[in-house]
Amino acid sequence: MSESAFLREQFVNPFTEVQEIAFLAYGCSEFYREKLHQAKLKPEEIRSIADLSRLPLTTREEIQGKPWGLLTVPKSRICQIHASTSLSKGPRVYIPFSDDDLYRGGLRPFTRGASFSPPLPMLVSEKDLVINALPYEVSHLGLLFHRILQDGVGTGVVPVGKGGFYSAPEKTLQIMKDLKGDHLFTTPAYAIHLAEKAWEVGYEIGKDLKPKSVWLAGESCSPGLRRRIEAMWKTDVFLCLTSLECGPIALECGEKNGMHISTGYVFAEIIPADDPVLKLAEGVGEIVATVLWRRSSPLIRYRTGLIGSIEDTACPCGLDSPRIRFWGRREEFLDVGGIRISVLEIEDSVMELSGISHWYSVRSADNTVTLFIPTGMSSEQRDDLKGKIEEKLRKQLRSSLSFEIQEHARVYKGEDWDRILSS
Ligand SMILES: [Zn+2]
Repeated sequence: MSESAFLREQFVNPFTEVQEIAFLAYGCSEFYREKLHQAKLKPEEIRSIADLSRLPLTTREEIQGKPWGLLTVPKSRICQIHASTSLSKGPRVYIPFSDDDLYRGGLRPFTRGASFSPPLPMLVSEKDLVINALPYEVSHLGLLFHRILQDGVGTGVVPVGKGGFYSAPEKTLQIMKDLKGDHLFTTPAYAIHLAEKAWEVGYEIGKDLKPKSVWLAGESCSPGLRRRIEAMWKTDVFLCLTSLECGPIALECGEKNGMHISTGYVFAEIIPADDPVLKLAEGVGEIVATVLWRRSSPLIRYRTGLIGSIEDTACPCGLDSPRIRFWGRREEFLDVGGIRISVLEIEDSVMELSGISHWYSVRSADNTVTLFIPTGMSSEQRDDLKGKIEEKLRKQLRSSLSFEIQEHARVYKGEDWDRILSS
């Protein structure tokens, strides 16, 4: 049997893996043993997908601040640990990995079923060279894509990282130019930062730097912002949905019309968002994932805090993995007069206007959304822009919100660009 046929057979049914994970967690993880005990449930009672809802959900609050809480193996088997990167001093989430998780689980086919595509539905080939400008320290992103690309796809990877003493953006650009990097993997804000730095140091994108594609992970990105990044980098930009707790959740294919669920890595469901003021369309809710690729610290029905819907219609690319439409993280919804509106919707609208900097932030109070943009615009220009945006947003969001523009003096230094300012 060919390797591909073998893998296809092994990975055809994700549900049997969910059952396996439930058995493993119940037998070996104290956290899940207790959780299932409280739910008065035995894993053998999960016989079909319809039974899944009987498995209790796992929340971030349950696992944060407990580095070893989920373990199914002795601590000595753990060979890598990543931690949540938020700047808050609150309890951190730690995700430990065994070598089996990294070198077997982490290299499994990306999707399963008839359209089996090892290991990524990416337009990245083994002959290509990837410039990986995702963070390698603390965060899981740099190493996650490093392994998938280097060991899974077989590409060459240049680990440049995302800022820091050794990886200043100017150096990354020089390396990319010298090595003629074929693809760039980074975050949306850092992709913009690198493009601006390229202009500053005199590199011409499309000539000195001409990646065949740019892949964005780690931060949300609206269609409008993506179009801007495509214009800056003069190439296609694709979006990835990942989380520290789950790893890869979904990735775009060449169609750029929704992200294919990484069915080899996670079993995804949508549950009601449980928040009546969230302004969500029918079928949209919170993405819940059961992690299939990591066995040393399993997660069953984990509430990701990511809001989206799942679409199971055929995609012209041929992959039969369903696609996720992503609306943003739960905390990326602004409270505007008692209704929560996705900041990605606002971003999508305002990014179409050429006068708006991509280094913007928003804040909401009562019925008013305030947009903060870098200094330098005259008050007439601001008034003109305010009128245009207000009209656009009222039309798009069917809301009577009012809109203000103020200036900020923040300068991006490589951190996650915080687009929502607290009131
Ligand atoms: Zn597709």
